[in-house]
Amino acid sequence: MDATVGIPPAVTAETEAFWTAAGQGRLLVERCSACAARSFPPYGICRVCRSRDVAPVEITGEGRIYSLTVNHQRWMPGLEVPYALVLVEFPDHPGVRVFGRLRGCPPQEAVIGMTVDIGFEPGPGGQAIPSFVARVPAGTVDPRPRRAPVSQPAGARRQERG
Ligand SMILES: [Zn+2]
Repeated sequence: MDATVGIPPAVTAETEAFWTAAGQGRLLVERCSACAARSFPPYGICRVCRSRDVAPVEITGEGRIYSLTVNHQRWMPGLEVPYALVLVEFPDHPGVRVFGRLRGCPPQEAVIGMTVDIGFEPGPGGQAIPSFVARVPAGTVDPRPRRAPVSQPAGARRQERG
């Protein structure tokens, strides 16, 4: 799997903190100081009450696949297919859903409700982008060692639970 093909993300004043944290292996969303709603992607304004009093908050812990699709179309030269794209929600952060690739299991084995860990991988332009790592059920063989290791940019670390 290779996510480095494509157009690098645009970094704006509102998204700079998110992309900087992503390079450090940390997933940030915005939390509204007025109503406590969490927002993603970051806009610099609360999506619920329109307050501009928002601050970054880190998401830790496990996520669950809310929805998914498996892409078989080679949209660009060098794009490895198939791969699963998942929309992940977080029990401790209601209302937040983050999109990314799924790693750690064959794409056809991805299912809604599957538990995933937060991770990152190098994206276009070397920018670390969110991706998620499937939790393999106990008693099954972990498929991860059979797959090519995913290198991460200097300073990046995969977000581990706890
Ligand atoms: Zn708000």
